[in-house]
Amino acid sequence: MHMSDVIKRDTTTFSFEFFPPSTDKSWEKLEETIDELTKLGPSFVSVTYGAGGSTRTKTHELVRRLKERSGLDPVPHLTCVEHDSAQIHDILKAYADAGISNILALRGDAPSGARSGDHFKHFPYAADLIRTISEFNRSGAHPDPRGFSIGAAGFPEGHPETPNTLAQMDHLKSKVDEGVDWICSQMFFDNRNFLDWKERCRLKGIDVPIFAGIMPVTSLSGLKRMAELAAGTNFPAPLLRALERAGPDPRNIERVGIHWATEQCLQLMDEGVQGIHFYTLNRSKATIEIYKSLGVNDSEQLRGRREPEITIVKR
Ligand SMILES: Cc1cc2nc3c(=O)[nH]c(=O)nc-3n(C[C@H](O)[C@H](O)[C@H](O)COP(=O)(O)OP(=O)(O)OC[C@H]3O[C@@H](n4cnc5c(N)ncnc54)[C@H](O)[C@@H]3O)c2cc1C
Repeated sequence: MHMSDVIKRDTTTFSFEFFPPSTDKSWEKLEETIDELTKLGPSFVSVTYGAGGSTRTKTHELVRRLKERSGLDPVPHLTCVEHDSAQIHDILKAYADAGISNILALRGDAPSGARSGDHFKHFPYAADLIRTISEFNRSGAHPDPRGFSIGAAGFPEGHPETPNTLAQMDHLKSKVDEGVDWICSQMFFDNRNFLDWKERCRLKGIDVPIFAGIMPVTSLSGLKRMAELAAGTNFPAPLLRALERAGPDPRNIERVGIHWATEQCLQLMDEGVQGIHFYTLNRSKATIEIYKSLGVNDSEQLRGRREPEITIVKR
């Protein structure tokens, strides 16, 4: 389903990110996760794109499987890394022919140890890729006359390469000007930073829907990995204190992480966010627990409104 239709239908969207597994065993595990999470009726699911080689083929494979198996319209991520225009055109054509309606367009990061300039020869920034997808859309090559709905990444707590936050906002705005229809945020654990950034986006004239990226902490090793992958992410002291209190038992750590993410989601819903995108790490348990506490797993009605319903009784 085209993202504009998703947004019209589900005023508050709930969605999941998956990554293509590297082994047969992890494919099996992911199939189970997909079955479990599909039952929750997500608004959409997205699939990450690797830095190169076979992981990329696996993204296309997972996108195809998700479409066939779950009836969902998966949103593939696509990056600039080591792609030229002809390759991007071929990928877009294949997705368009397969009935894919949405793409999350990113710059990506250079594979570690390599000089980054060489990897972005044709598309230095995500805005360049977005321009190419918009041109593809205008060429009428997509069976849907609206073309792909294009998403971009946003960084509420800043992107490490651009310490100047005003310049960062200019770069985000230029992505929107090139044709972005929606933004998906990097994970964050401090809602105040997300809400402030959202307001700064609006002040800059960035008026497309913004999905909030939520990743529950499920282990201490996972926390360390998050800090490495999403440099600049703020881990608030109350969260770190609660994790410390939880002690060494991994089940307690997971409980704290799920509780924190649930509280984040509740506040974000109260604030009327467009949607919540869960970074699932291909696991279902934490997301299902959060859904249960939010009461959105079995209530289609709740998706259809952002403000709590208030009945005024006249005396
Ligand atoms: C929701 C989400 C999903 C992601 N999925 C993937 C994935 O599947 N695969 C993957 O490899 N990575 C993924 N990433 C990581 C992302 O690719 C990296 O964080 C990357 O460094 C930034 O990508 P971007 O699209 O924001 O790049 P850009 O918008 O191009 O920005 C990159 C940096 O360049 C700066 N910049 C932009 N334009 C200019 C300009 N004209 N002049 C100077 N500086 C400029 C920006 O301020 C920023 O610091 C994801 C990130 C998020 C938030």
